[in-house]
Amino acid sequence: MSRRVLVVGAGIAGLATARALGSLGIAADVVERRADRPASGFGLNLPGNAVRALSRLGVDRPLTEAGVPVVRREYRSASGRLLFGVDEAAFWTGIAPSVCVRHGVVLDALAQGIEVRRGVACGRVTVEDHGVRVGLSDGSEEVYDFLVGADGVHSAVRSGALPGAPVSSLMTTGCWRFVTADPGVDCWTAWTGHGVTLLLIPVAPGEVYGYAASNRAAAAVDEPGWLGRAFAAFPAPAVKAVDQVLEGDPTPYYSRVEEVRMPTWHRGRMVVIGDAAHATGPVWAQGAAMALEDALVLADLLARRDDWSTVGAEWEDSRRTRVAHVQAATDRMSRLAGLPGWVSHSVAPLAGPRAYRATYGPLRTDPLAG
Ligand SMILES: Cc1cc2nc3c(=O)[nH]c(=O)nc-3n(C[C@H](O)[C@H](O)[C@H](O)COP(=O)(O)OP(=O)(O)OC[C@H]3O[C@@H](n4cnc5c(N)ncnc54)[C@H](O)[C@@H]3O)c2cc1C
Repeated sequence: MSRRVLVVGAGIAGLATARALGSLGIAADVVERRADRPASGFGLNLPGNAVRALSRLGVDRPLTEAGVPVVRREYRSASGRLLFGVDEAAFWTGIAPSVCVRHGVVLDALAQGIEVRRGVACGRVTVEDHGVRVGLSDGSEEVYDFLVGADGVHSAVRSGALPGAPVSSLMTTGCWRFVTADPGVDCWTAWTGHGVTLLLIPVAPGEVYGYAASNRAAAAVDEPGWLGRAFAAFPAPAVKAVDQVLEGDPTPYYSRVEEVRMPTWHRGRMVVIGDAAHATGPVWAQGAAMALEDALVLADLLARRDDWSTVGAEWEDSRRTRVAHVQAATDRMSRLAGLPGWVSHSVAPLAGPRAYRATYGPLRTDPLAG
């Protein structure tokens, strides 16, 4: 008799898991709380290891066609002075190109051929000796041979069965995001100074994705007027992008930035993956990459093992070091960004390129090789 897997959540982690399992001959039920299909969303900065994982899932082509390759990064001060640049294309040569693309493009590509029961939320989860009993919002209750909680930062699967809860990110309490007409940037460009950061990345022909945040936890940033005040003295492209979104083209979106750090990601035949297990501030843009790698490694183990009772522990074992590396690099950079501008800017020309190589270097290795 074929064994049954339930994937909770049709975000990047859940869809990637269902897709990876399907390619290895394991069918999975997927339930998603949201009834509607997601909108196009904001930009996703996908470094080479994320694009390599998407390529393994057979969906890199739509992304590289719809998105924009990230060829170069420039870190600048609030006055526009170049602190350091990174030749991103050269760094990821031999792995996969970095790309920036709308979140919805990634979800649509991963969802091709995957059946999702939309408008169905996971409720009560009970881990039993030989499976996991799951209660769903449509009133059904079933026992699955394996449960994958891919239900994001506020995971219901996690809260019912594992210790761990979201906390505010060290980098910032919240941020503004938008997509707007390109104000004149030709590459990934971040300006930092006076305790704030604005990042613009080309995301589609003629469009940039914008991310704006304060590094100071106490600052009242959650009303749009803050954007205009915080970046008024920044270089022309930054001011133009902010003016465009404040004029409603389109309206910017504010959200909290939260992290999840947990002592364990599995219990019996149940795991949490992606943001449900290890949401991390987007300092190094590794959220999608870690979720995709989680999915690939988990599917590989489920396909290779006859006994699924040990897969959770084995999967966690093979993912911990890599995720801990990203979390530690995120904390280091968040602390640096919290220093006064004159301090962080004076060390940036040397420390910046070094931090980039130290963070991404280990992620060039193949997550399935370990
Ligand atoms: C401000 C910001 C900027 C970011 N920028 C980047 C970036 O540039 N690059 C990058 O790689 N990452 C970035 N990330 C992180 C990235 O978006 C995530 O890590 C990635 O999308 C993986 O998400 P996920 O699939 O684990 O969770 P989610 O995307 O949250 O998906 C979870 C899904 O589960 C569903 N769900 C929730 N509860 C239930 C339930 N009880 N039952 C059924 N379904 C449920 C939700 O509706 C959702 O569809 C950013 C994050 C933030 C906050």
